[in-house]
Amino acid sequence: MKRRAILFSAPSGSGKTTIIKRLMKYFDCFEFSISATSRNPREGESDGVDYYFLSPDEFERRVQEEQFLEWEEVYAGTRYGTLKSEIDRICEKEKVVIFDVDVNGGLNIKRYFGDDALAIFVMPPSIEVLEQRLRSRGTESEESIQKRLGRSAKELNEASKFDVTIINDDLDRAVEQTKQTIEKFLEERV
Ligand code: ADP
Ligand code: 5GP
Repeated sequence: MKRRAILFSAPSGSGKTTIIKRLMKYFDCFEFSISATSRNPREGESDGVDYYFLSPDEFERRVQEEQFLEWEEVYAGTRYGTLKSEIDRICEKEKVVIFDVDVNGGLNIKRYFGDDALAIFVMPPSIEVLEQRLRSRGTESEESIQKRLGRSAKELNEASKFDVTIINDDLDRAVEQTKQTIEKFLEERV
């Protein structure tokens, strides 16, 4: 079975979900790996599309049963993880698995896939712009914004461990640059 993966990691608010959504339209070989999370859905999110929304107990049961390739308590009391069944589901169809995961999760997935994965770090132009984007998204409470910003300085220091860094200042330019990097990666792994 051919395994190919592209993973996107970045501090929350950098724009990785926005970039992934744009790229999904270009590449019909992509399939998004739907993570499990113990947080509640945001307005507009649905179960089995954006995430598999699990109760904290159900998440814990699956951890005990070793159903996760990786999981992280990304924010205190909120866990996110990649189910092994999700990767099998996508690779069986010979599709390229697309991950949107935190920085630690990204590095763990890169270790698992090795050269079969392209690890992309999405860099915000600055911490100030990151904060503005998180606020303008309008989805987080003040507490959640502070939790997210609190992690970002540490996460930004991990960028050099990724295969490529894309600076997300102008969105069209960032999408184009990411698209070209991915095309090159896929050509080398037909
Ligand atoms: P992440 O998935 O990394 O948490 P999002 O994709 O949700 O981030 O983006 C955070 C916010 O910033 C969203 O409101 C999005 O529309 C906006 N955004 C993303 N990229 C850009 C950009 N290049 N310029 C301006 N705003 C952006
Ligand atoms: P959000 O709550 O904004 O959807 O996601 C919060 C953070 O959790 C983001 O950095 C996102 O990339 C990360 N995340 C989502 N799914 C996973 C996953 O399966 N594993 C890990 N390690 N992080 C994840």
